Amino acid sequence: MIDNNRIVKGAVIKRVIACLMIILLAVSIYGVAGKQVAVISSQCVGCGDCTKVCIKDAVVIVRGKALINTDKCNGCGLCISICSYNAIRYGGEK
Ligand code: SF4
Ligand code: SF4
Repeated sequence: MIDNNRIVKGAVIKRVIACLMIILLAVSIYGVAGKQVAVISSQCVGCGDCTKVCIKDAVVIVRGKALINTDKCNGCGLCISICSYNAIRYGGEK
């Protein structure tokens, strides 16, 4: 026998997951309006992981430390989430 409640619940869950994925994608592309990230130089080891995830090409390594180009950065926070050394944080408004 077909359990209609289960089918409806499954469809709702799929739509919620799809919506969350769209929101995540939009944030990574368009960023968080007005948010600015900053590098804590004393914690940065210059591994370069943040440069690999930044889709705006806004991070470079200069003399062994990450440097954010604030003109390019959209505040998406991908670099914050990838940094194993907690060396990037939201550091104010744009
Ligand atoms: S991922 Fe973190 S530690 Fe590595 S270069 Fe970027 S800011 Fe520095
Ligand atoms: S928040 Fe980080 S990953 Fe996102 S655009 Fe700015 S520097 Fe690049």
